Amino acid sequence: MKTSIIGFPRIGENRELKFATEKYFKNKISFEELEETAKEIRKSAWTKQKESGLDYIVSNDFSYYDLFLDAAVTFNIIPKRYRELNLDPIDTYFAMARGYQKDDLDVKALSMKKWFNTNYHYMVAEIEDDTEIKLNSTKAFDEYKEARKLGIETKSTIVGPFTLLKLIDYKGDKGIDDFKNDLVAAYIEYISKFNDLGLKVLQFEEPYIVKDLDSDDIALFKEVYREILSNKKDIKVLLQTYFGDVRDIYEDLQDLDFDGIGLDFIEGRKTLELIEKYGFAEDKVLFAGLINGKNIWRNSYKKTLEVLDGLKTKGINCVLSTSSSLLHVPYTITNEDELDEKYKKHFAFAYEKLEELEEIKTIADTDYENEEIFKRNQDLLANREDYLDESVRERVASIDDSIFTRIDSFEKREEVQAEEFDLPLFPTTTIGSFPQTANVKRNRKRFKTGEITKEEYEDFNLQKIKECIALQEEIGLDVLVHGEFERNDMVEYFGEHLSGYLFTKKAWVQSYGTRCVKPPIIWGDVKRNEPITVKWSTYAQSLTGKPVKGMLTGPVTILNWSFPREDISIQESTYQIALAIRDEVLDLEAAGIRVIQIDEAALREKLPLRKTDWYSEYLDWAIPAFRIVHSGCKASTQIHTHMCYSEFGDIIKAIDNMDADIISFEASRSNLKILDFLKENNFKTHVGPGVYDIHSPRVPSVEEITTSLRKMIQKLDYKKLWVNPDCGLKTRGEEETVKALKNLVEASLELRNEYQGKN
Ligand code: GLN
Ligand code: ZN
Repeated sequence: MKTSIIGFPRIGENRELKFATEKYFKNKISFEELEETAKEIRKSAWTKQKESGLDYIVSNDFSYYDLFLDAAVTFNIIPKRYRELNLDPIDTYFAMARGYQKDDLDVKALSMKKWFNTNYHYMVAEIEDDTEIKLNSTKAFDEYKEARKLGIETKSTIVGPFTLLKLIDYKGDKGIDDFKNDLVAAYIEYISKFNDLGLKVLQFEEPYIVKDLDSDDIALFKEVYREILSNKKDIKVLLQTYFGDVRDIYEDLQDLDFDGIGLDFIEGRKTLELIEKYGFAEDKVLFAGLINGKNIWRNSYKKTLEVLDGLKTKGINCVLSTSSSLLHVPYTITNEDELDEKYKKHFAFAYEKLEELEEIKTIADTDYENEEIFKRNQDLLANREDYLDESVRERVASIDDSIFTRIDSFEKREEVQAEEFDLPLFPTTTIGSFPQTANVKRNRKRFKTGEITKEEYEDFNLQKIKECIALQEEIGLDVLVHGEFERNDMVEYFGEHLSGYLFTKKAWVQSYGTRCVKPPIIWGDVKRNEPITVKWSTYAQSLTGKPVKGMLTGPVTILNWSFPREDISIQESTYQIALAIRDEVLDLEAAGIRVIQIDEAALREKLPLRKTDWYSEYLDWAIPAFRIVHSGCKASTQIHTHMCYSEFGDIIKAIDNMDADIISFEASRSNLKILDFLKENNFKTHVGPGVYDIHSPRVPSVEEITTSLRKMIQKLDYKKLWVNPDCGLKTRGEEETVKALKNLVEASLELRNEYQGKN
């Protein structure tokens, strides 16, 4: 049996590519120097794969920014605004990725979207009516040659034509039908060039086919691939899918002339069932994605080998593979020198997954149950320490329906809270964080490195809170915040205060371009050991007569931005976190905090790829998890939530069902279509659609804000409208923040005067 991976991390074990690219952006190094770093990274990745014994080593999985953008550029899909800059190819490429500013020129970047259900973002390529599709880059060929020079034969990968056609943004009148023939011709030329170079295996990544497909999609896929596959010459073509199963198109795939098909056995719930039902074509090789490419736990060799055995008995020719590219996991656990071995041995990052592939390969064709490798793996999995907490288990098990419903109805709360707070019309507030200025970050760093004591660290933060409250009073905001100076990150901060969580030092995963994230790991049962935010919030509240919002991250977001457990369901883990946050909510309430915001920034993010799964697989427990958090509050305690996007029109009922009192969301960059949905659905929750974009330092004028508020009032009951920015202010500077918030307050006052006394 052979082994394969779909792709490898590329940012560098110590994020070398990130740092070199950022230097290049600042003109501190030349492109040649950046290229050197890139070459080193590729060489190291290929060598690792080779040394581990991997059979299908992969090339063209490297990217200076994003693989989807690479595919677009390969076929000359470059909007005019970038071509007209007349830059070197690499700078044109970077201009697409991050925009281009020089003198009076200000060219916007392409927009960015989440890559399916991951936390990785791809650049949404744009195609214009006059875009001429043709082969335009030698990147894939160069990388293939580069590897061969090192004595390493690779399979080359590229995003396939179907996914490309489906995800591209069509800017003009033309659409898929107008471009597909040219694109197919360009892919054929691409294959032909590779054929001349002697490439043996070409991998087409087609994740789009794990989504719901209609008959047009299927027809398009077949048409495109019939043409391409009849021109594949001596090259073997591997159709690689990931992030789910291909239930809508499985049988069609069997009929097409692919040499290999890569299927996901981890997220593909129906993959086995499909094989069972329809068989697998004899002339093809099945690349069985059995090693999880997105999570970091050691593989169960027993489970993997059992599936492989089953496939073999069916006579299927299998290659063992990962379920997705390893881009979504960090490089190696060996770099975590501060993590105890008792934890470390349970994790497999990219390097360790290569070892797993090799180990399984070694024993796959033997009487493996007697093999040392097998026994060791069985032993390891059976001996996990310190992760069970009976009290947590019992608490989750004893959850009954009452915990999902707040004691008082929304209408009752609305009435009680109107009296309790007596807020003016168009109440003003912010989303939570205030600018994390250099001194805030320095203070945290000095504490972490032991330069200052905990007391000194906290004193500084208390001082910042004091200034922040004074500032908000001066600006005239109605509902205040403490500023979140104690947090570096909205998930990490809570994770650090919950047992069951583990943190890494170097386990970076690329999120987009040069940006990486370091998701914490949910190791075991999660419990709150002591109050987390109460000290900060009560101090802030003691300084003012105005209500100060307690500020928490919600359970779904905490879970979605962590590496989850695999031994219990995600639902169960989320409920554990929900109970921990519930305790915090009740402590805040008991300490006199009357308004509590529970952020669910990432709630929509993990919506399943198939619409049919939205509720049954996700929302049916995610929304209840949120309700657990606040259901124990008094009627007079006002619950806010916040989301970083406004595209929740399609799940609007679920959002209303969170049963918060107020929801704020990003809206200044959207077309406010969401407001129509809110109206049509009689959305009950009070709303704060963001009135200005916090992603840029631009200060919005009073008039701009009143204009957008007036638009909102046309569609919403003005008595339900709050006035706030799009999101937290932590990435902004102080000066622009103060100006923007003053304008926001003034805009609200203007409308308040107008609407006072109206009915
Ligand atoms: N309360 C958080 C903040 O203001 C919310 C951040 C977010 O939504 N991403 O920073
Ligand atoms: Zn936000």
